[in-house]
Formats: sequence, C-alpha cells, structure tokens
Amino acid sequence: MMKKKRIAVLGSTGSIGINTLRVIAAHPERFEVAALTAFNSVKEIEGQIRKFAPKYVAIAQPHIASLRKSCPAVKFFDVTRDLAELVVAKDIDVVVIAMTGAVALDPFLAAVRAGKIVAPANKEALVMAGDILMAEAQKYGATVIPVDSEQSAIFQCLQGRDIKDVQQIHLTASGGALRKVPRVRHDQLSVKQILAHPRWKMGAKITVDSATLMNKGFEVIEAQRLFGVPVDKIKVIIHPEAIVHSMVEFIDGSILAQLGVTDMRLPIQYALTHPNRLSTGLPCLDFSKLGQLTFEKPDTRTFPSLRLAYDVLRCGGSAPAVLNAADEIAVEAFLQGRIRFTGIYAIVAKVLAAHVREPHRSSARIVDIKQADAWSRRRAVEEIERIR
Ligand code: MG
Repeated sequence: MMKKKRIAVLGSTGSIGINTLRVIAAHPERFEVAALTAFNSVKEIEGQIRKFAPKYVAIAQPHIASLRKSCPAVKFFDVTRDLAELVVAKDIDVVVIAMTGAVALDPFLAAVRAGKIVAPANKEALVMAGDILMAEAQKYGATVIPVDSEQSAIFQCLQGRDIKDVQQIHLTASGGALRKVPRVRHDQLSVKQILAHPRWKMGAKITVDSATLMNKGFEVIEAQRLFGVPVDKIKVIIHPEAIVHSMVEFIDGSILAQLGVTDMRLPIQYALTHPNRLSTGLPCLDFSKLGQLTFEKPDTRTFPSLRLAYDVLRCGGSAPAVLNAADEIAVEAFLQGRIRFTGIYAIVAKVLAAHVREPHRSSARIVDIKQADAWSRRRAVEEIERIR
C-alpha cells in the first residue's frame, strides 16, 4: 500500500482551502489531513475537524478554549503566532498555503526550511520575498509546487525541461471585469460591478486586483521568483476564455501550453500528486464546443499595474513588498468607498516613488522586507488621506 501524503491546509475555510479538502476527500487512499488552520471561522473549521480528524489545528486564540472542549483529540495552536511552529511538524509532508495576506510569509519560510513540499496559492509571500523563499527552498531541499492556475501551468510545461532553453513565458490573463470598459468610465463603476468577475469566483481583494490587472502584475513577479527566468522573458497576454492557463516557449520556437477547465481543483490536485497524476472527475474540455480561443495585447496605458510590476522586479530588494502592501491598503480603501477606482494606481505609484528614498529599498533580508511592508502600509494610508 502507498504511504498517504499528510497535508497541512493553511486557510482551510477559504475558497482554495475548501477546494483542497474536496480533492483530499476524493482520494482518501492517497491523502490525509494533518493540520487545518483558519482565523475566525470557528463553525466552518469545527465541521472540517469532524470530517477530516486532523492532528493539529490553528485558530485565533479566543476560540481555542471552546473548540478544545468539542475536539479534545486535537492539538491547538494560535494562528496569529504559531503557524511557523506548526508547519515544521514531522508528520506533515505537504503544506498547502491557501490563506491570503502577508501573514503567510513566516509559515512559508519555516516550511521551506524544514524541507517540506510547499504548495502556495498565496500570492503575497512570493511577491514580497519570493527570491528569498526560493533560495531557501533550494538550500534546504524543499519543493515548491504552485497552486495558482497560471503558475501551475508554467510549472507543468517546464517539467523535464531545462530552464536555459526557455525563450519566453506567456502568462495568460482573463483581462478582468473592465477589459471592455473604456477608461473614462472606470471611476463611475460601483464596487459591486467590479466584483462581478467573468471567469473565476474569488474573494473581493483578488477580484479588484484582477480588474486593475495588479493580480497579473503580481503573477509576473511570482513567475520570475518561482522559475528564475529573466524579467524580460515573461510576457502577459490577455486570453478572455481562460482555457489556456499559460504557455512556455522554447528557444527553438516550440511552445507548450497547459489547457483545462477553469476549476481550481485541477492545479490543487496536481500540486498534491506531482509528479504523478490522478483522475479529478472533472468534465473534459470539448474542443468541438469551444469555438475560438482569442488572445490580445494588454493595454498598459489603461492598466498601469503591469508596468509597476515590471518596474519593481527590476528594482528588486524590498520594492515588490512595497507594491504588495500599498496595493492592499489602496484596494481596501476602494472597497470601503474611500477612493475611486483609478485612485488605486495613484496611491500605489506614489508610495513606490517615495520608496526609492528609503534606506531599506535595496536589501533583501526578511527583516527589511517586513520593515518595508509596514512602511508602505503607513505611507499608503497617508497618501489616501491626502487625495480624499
Ligand atoms: Mg491566477
């Protein structure tokens, strides 16, 4: 009998976490849940504990006492403090990082230093400190298998290939909610209209990031970090049907693409089974019904986020962390109706412009990254007050 993979799901009550548990539940002979974590979703995680019987659970401190009564067999951790301690447990093989936010940085770092298989769906940690995380993964023999659909596609296309043979990476983007909306109208749209994403069902923050194309900018940074290709070899191409999840072009002009239905269970499961594959039970693509697949160049004048992402990659150091933090604050202000849609770009660009004068800008140590993150958040708040 095959040894089961013991999986920690960080952020198990969010959409990626729930889909990860569906994949695990579909293959009980292959996988078992070793740990679950959530912040405040007590009811949801209690149901998950009953169903999957994890050994470890992390949740916000105030909920631990009551959960311990109903789940006496579980060892509990404080989610805001102890995640880095939890993920290094000997009886965890794979760490799925499904939680959002910069808080994923510490457990990600701890997991790679413990030589785990790390399956990140979280963007922030890779954007902020992807260069450090990947260097540590290499040093400690950890395997990083991305869960994000585009990065998973690139990862799959690169299997068994030499990175030196890569001519270009074509990162596909659905184009977000505003692809066909003229720029002059962007500030007239309501938060609700922007949250109606055409392809993927996601949280509010990432849906706004899709509309600004900042999400794709973050993915350019992630791809550079994950695969170690030069910045200029990563190209974004708008592909509204979201069937081609990304492509890799080699020096001989040959291009490999990964295609599939738009269901996150596919890349999640691949991260859990790599280098093998298992049936997902998902419907297959029917090419005779697909009709056309279309591609177009992104409009970086209307959507300046992509330019900002390339800029911070060239700048390096803590600049990507500054971009990530400023965007988080700006998007939050937009969702609260405190700034207009295009105000997001304005805030982020202003914070980045101020960052070049900061002493921690060129350093790439975790402590400086965190300092830059905090600085950027403060600065973004100030800029928001200024433009209101
Ligand atoms: Mg994506």
